[in-house]
Amino acid sequence: MSGRPASGVHWRAATVAAVSEATPHARILRLAVPQWPGSLPGQHVDVRLTADDGYQAVRSYSLGLAGTGEEIELAVDEVPDGEVSPYLVRDVRPGDELEVLGPLGGYFVWNAADASPVQLIAGGSGIVPLRAMVRARLAAASGQRFRLLYSVRTAEDAIYRDEMESLPGEIPVEWVYTRAAPAGWSGATGRLDAERLDAAVWPVADDPLIFVCGPTAFVEAVARSLVARGHPPLRIRTERFGGL
Ligand SMILES: Cc1cc2nc3c(=O)[nH]c(=O)nc-3n(C[C@H](O)[C@H](O)[C@H](O)COP(=O)(O)OP(=O)(O)OC[C@H]3O[C@@H](n4cnc5c(N)ncnc54)[C@H](O)[C@@H]3O)c2cc1C
Repeated sequence: MSGRPASGVHWRAATVAAVSEATPHARILRLAVPQWPGSLPGQHVDVRLTADDGYQAVRSYSLGLAGTGEEIELAVDEVPDGEVSPYLVRDVRPGDELEVLGPLGGYFVWNAADASPVQLIAGGSGIVPLRAMVRARLAAASGQRFRLLYSVRTAEDAIYRDEMESLPGEIPVEWVYTRAAPAGWSGATGRLDAERLDAAVWPVADDPLIFVCGPTAFVEAVARSLVARGHPPLRIRTERFGGL
């Protein structure tokens, strides 16, 4: 859940417009939100579910697409034994109603007017807000250097896999497979280490703006490693999704 929303941000009714499978344990949800004010790349919403007996649960989900329009896109990865995500991944159907609060967040946002090279680093579902940044950069055709490092357990676990595998050459993608690599993969398998981080991230001398997103432990380990390699903490923006 997020802190205080900006003024004008309030709970809005949302109707599930479409659901599609993103991985065997993650789904993309498109929600119709009348009078949605639009969002910036990297922002998120709070989603509120209300049970028949009035019990409510609220969780934050990043927006997979920024911009205007009355439909928003979320991608939810199931946390086993979680309270909310199994429902969103397994049970939600088109036509279901829920509520959203947002857009939220002003720090973990890519500003298209910033000329800095951008380094995106995603762990698992942490790809969601970074995908919104990639799409915004492609739409703006603004020329900033962009690069993505995407760490997943296996290729099948990658949300937006097809899209990230077929990005234009101007946005190189480096994959890290922590459990098993796809057939034909010649690189190493296993957790992201300092050597691979160095090889896949814009050098300190280029003064990149770095966005790191994913499970809390992943984000903290990557951010620590980046600082140890000389990247200034103020150039590293992090979004922690929770968990270990
Ligand atoms: C700003 C923000 C944006 C987010 N965006 C997304 C998104 O785009 N897609 C998405 O799938 N999730 C996202 N999350 C995570 C999401 O808010 C929930 O925490 C997640 O769906 C688990 O909720 P739950 O109710 O199923 O689990 P809970 O019932 O809250 O937790 C069950 C157990 O799982 C652990 N846990 C909670 N969250 C995680 C996690 N992310 N990874 C591993 N273990 C966890 C808890 O510590 C607890 O032990 C975001 C979180 C934040 C703060």
